[in-house]
Amino acid sequence: MLDLKMYINGEWRDSRNKQKRKIINPANGEIFAEAAEGTVEDTKEAIKVAKETFESGIWSEMPASERASYLFKIADKIDEYSDELVHLETTDNGKTLREARFDVGDAAACFRYYAGLITKPDGQTYHVVDPVQAMVVREPIGVCGLIVPWNYPLLMSVWKIAPALAAGNTIVFKPSEVTPVTPTKLFEILEEIELPKGVANLVLGAGPVVGNEIAESHDVDFVSFTGGTKTGKHIMKAAAGNVKKISLELGGKSPNIIFADADFETAVDYALFGIYSGAGQVCSAGSRILVEESIYEKFVERFVERAKQINVGPGDDPASEMGPLVSQEHLEKVLKYIEIGKKEGARLVCGGNRITKNGLNKGFFVEPTVFIDVKPDMRIVQEEIFGPVVVIQKFKDEREAIQLANHTDYGLAGGVFTVDGAKALRVIKKLRAGITWINTYHPTYNEAPWGGYKQSGIGRGLGTYGLEEFQEIKQININLQVEPIGWFSK
Ligand code: NAD
Repeated sequence: MLDLKMYINGEWRDSRNKQKRKIINPANGEIFAEAAEGTVEDTKEAIKVAKETFESGIWSEMPASERASYLFKIADKIDEYSDELVHLETTDNGKTLREARFDVGDAAACFRYYAGLITKPDGQTYHVVDPVQAMVVREPIGVCGLIVPWNYPLLMSVWKIAPALAAGNTIVFKPSEVTPVTPTKLFEILEEIELPKGVANLVLGAGPVVGNEIAESHDVDFVSFTGGTKTGKHIMKAAAGNVKKISLELGGKSPNIIFADADFETAVDYALFGIYSGAGQVCSAGSRILVEESIYEKFVERFVERAKQINVGPGDDPASEMGPLVSQEHLEKVLKYIEIGKKEGARLVCGGNRITKNGLNKGFFVEPTVFIDVKPDMRIVQEEIFGPVVVIQKFKDEREAIQLANHTDYGLAGGVFTVDGAKALRVIKKLRAGITWINTYHPTYNEAPWGGYKQSGIGRGLGTYGLEEFQEIKQININLQVEPIGWFSK
């Protein structure tokens, strides 16, 4: 049984009240780890340490190239522990080995990307009014509170920790209470490469306790949050106390638009990948497939045929193509949405059930599920289900495709499949979404900005934008003619 502790000021410790949370393998319902259940006091202490460490300058004033060398070492260690991290991620989150391998590889690449970026030129100079020379420099923000969800336990952590540290900040990090295992292993790596004490602090525990304290604290300068839109709204309010900067990466209900002229098998293949990878527990999942009416019947038939062939099973079985949902609680939520869909009058043409055969009865498995004959305002079309449940809608022309695609409160991602390049770009430009794909779905790159429009969030992660989120901008005006201004009479 793994015993997960918090890491504060370079020391591993239990929570003040000694409480533990049981961590469950979603493939079989078994407890495989216990995690310290952090309190408000633990969180306050971590914030205090992060503040003192930031002010000490040990990290914030370290030359960027030296900070980069720590980040390169972290990346190398992630590679070294890759097999262990893959195993832990699969056990904790349920994702397949193939999915976990992608995440671990991306995590190492993300540290390398920001290690490289931080040593590149930044800042600007302006020619203003002589004799003044103006310039702009970027500085770390201070204490950054980082809060992440359970669907990519390691990768979401790294998307925040790598740019935060690269920029010279100190951090208080909170993983999801459901999946603290690989984030804790990452902190073991930070200790192993001898990151200076107090720079990175890990507090485990519940959102309304640890997360809320981070969001409310007057000593936290920036909260970078990834999670649900409802929690994001709470963070916004909690952060108002000291007007701290926030960035929010929230939920989605993303459209995947398939025109009749698209390469049919490619479109079907990516549409399946768009919704069923990660068992649909992906913020950018293509959970609304919009298909041009002339190929609608053919598309539904082929999509359902393929969906039924997906091999659902434990993530650690190399034959599994789709793993379980992350928890009993989440399983119940997804099954409830399937019932809502039926009650709303949508037609269930594939799946719709928990899987209990073939020894899967103790895990949280759900069949790949498809609803058709939906109406745009149904809850299953509007709300994020975050499971292997897709709705397939019909559209008659480009205009209607765009109108349906934009008809939700979310605006995270979207895809278009067509061989007409001009049409693809016309449609993409009308999509109210921050991440878009043409003739592909889901690929994500460390180099490109990640984030949403509307209620899918505020700000951008990854790429140069992701580094700027963790920096303050300062203008410096230098008078080159040192003499009195003579504004007032003597
Ligand atoms: P969640 O909002 O329930 O939890 C996310 C994190 O917030 C967890 O660490 C949780 O403990 C914490 N939290 C919960 N209540 C809090 C509070 N009152 N104050 C402070 N922190 C609190 O989300 P989840 O169920 O863990 O993850 C699924 C959601 O995350 C989905 O909506 C998904 O779309 C979203 N997500 C978005 C992105 C993105 O990049 N936009 C990426 C991954 C996941």
